[in-house]
Amino acid sequence: NVRTRFAPSPTGYLHIGGARTALFSWMYARKMGGTFILRIEDTDRERSTQASVDAILEGMEWLNLGYDEGPFYQTHCFDRYKAVIQQLLDSGHAYRCYCSKEELEQMREQQMARKEKPRYDGRWRERQDETPPAGIDPVIRFRNPQTGVVEIDDLVRGKIVISNTELDDLIIARSDGTPTYNLTVVVDDIDMRVTHVIRGDDHINNTPRQINIMRALGFEPPKFAHVPMILGADGQRLSKRHGAVGVMQYRDDGYLPQALINYLVRLGWSHGDQEIFSREEMIEHFTLEGINRAPSSFNPDKLLWLNQHYIKTLPAEEIASQLQWHLTAQQLATDTGPALTAVINAQRERAKTLVEMVAISRYFYEEFSQYDATAVQKQFKPETADTLQVVHTALQGLAEWQGEAIHGAIQAACETLGLKLGKVGPPLRVAVTGSASSPSLEITLELIGRERSLARIERAIQ
Ligand code: GLU
Repeated sequence: NVRTRFAPSPTGYLHIGGARTALFSWMYARKMGGTFILRIEDTDRERSTQASVDAILEGMEWLNLGYDEGPFYQTHCFDRYKAVIQQLLDSGHAYRCYCSKEELEQMREQQMARKEKPRYDGRWRERQDETPPAGIDPVIRFRNPQTGVVEIDDLVRGKIVISNTELDDLIIARSDGTPTYNLTVVVDDIDMRVTHVIRGDDHINNTPRQINIMRALGFEPPKFAHVPMILGADGQRLSKRHGAVGVMQYRDDGYLPQALINYLVRLGWSHGDQEIFSREEMIEHFTLEGINRAPSSFNPDKLLWLNQHYIKTLPAEEIASQLQWHLTAQQLATDTGPALTAVINAQRERAKTLVEMVAISRYFYEEFSQYDATAVQKQFKPETADTLQVVHTALQGLAEWQGEAIHGAIQAACETLGLKLGKVGPPLRVAVTGSASSPSLEITLELIGRERSLARIERAIQ
């Protein structure tokens, strides 16, 4: 039974890279009929915040990445980590190190002077029977094997072999007794019976260390898939400088979660040259082996293109709740306006984002205070009042306020006036929307509604 996890550290918002890692872990679990776990790695108490935990949970929910177990919080597991540290001490796989800061600093300087890679030289490895120096709270270090190699059959990168002589004895408990990242990850991956660790390749140096600790505890490591990083257009690691922001900012900017998910799935993974994936298709085709070995680059234009695609093609019902969110955020009351699905169907060809859709749909929900000046200049002529009066009379007589009937009434008004629709339509549009562009007149009027439409025509006549 496949078990994957997403293990963010809550030290910031859920960003593009984190969301992609979560998506890959989620997809793989779904594909394999497995379990997806959310684990909040909040042991760094200084940098972890509740706001960031909330942002991660909110982002996962918005992206509709449901987890089967969790969220688990590492800060709730300190007793368990303590017990494991004690177990490693008892079995001789860990030892206390009494080096002072100064001593470690000196060690580092000497190694640098000899042009060696700075590393802990293991000086307390064999001195556990000595009387410890006074006044120093020891750290606890893992007794890394000094011979042999660690082999990783990474599902993305292939075979990686690291010699144990490359690895020093890393700290698993700080002098205040709190466990370090490499220890907590191992304990949790064991306890949660994680079978596949899918994470960013910035962790690749930790992996052999974690494997050694796992084996010292008597467990075989899970499978690993290290996902290459995401670059900005300039080839540098993706960051805020590239306009990469938290996932929720994309909601605020009018992106659909379906579009962002589709964008993320193609960021470093491919299935032939297919670009558009439904959730079902992603799950069906996803493989860890299909993840690219090379870094991928973030392309905001493509994300926008996908957003436009989903705005155009998704069933309106699947967009409605997102549009509702934006209308509410803009303080537009929707209860007296048209159905959101009708607005979506009318406007979807005209908007690349939901923010744009709201901007061109305000007149459905609220009165506009000003007409577009250019439109007025072009369309409101001395005879317009008379023209609109005839249209008003025709519309007022309608039994049913519905597109086709509205179309008929406008046609009838044109005949009465002896004018082409091209003379009647444009000023009517300015009268009811305040602007020169909108969906077809009959749809526009239908959605604005009888009362609002007639009142706006009256206002334009005066
Ligand atoms: N907490 C780590 C991070 O946010 C991830 C650890 C892991 O996936 O093993 O980078």
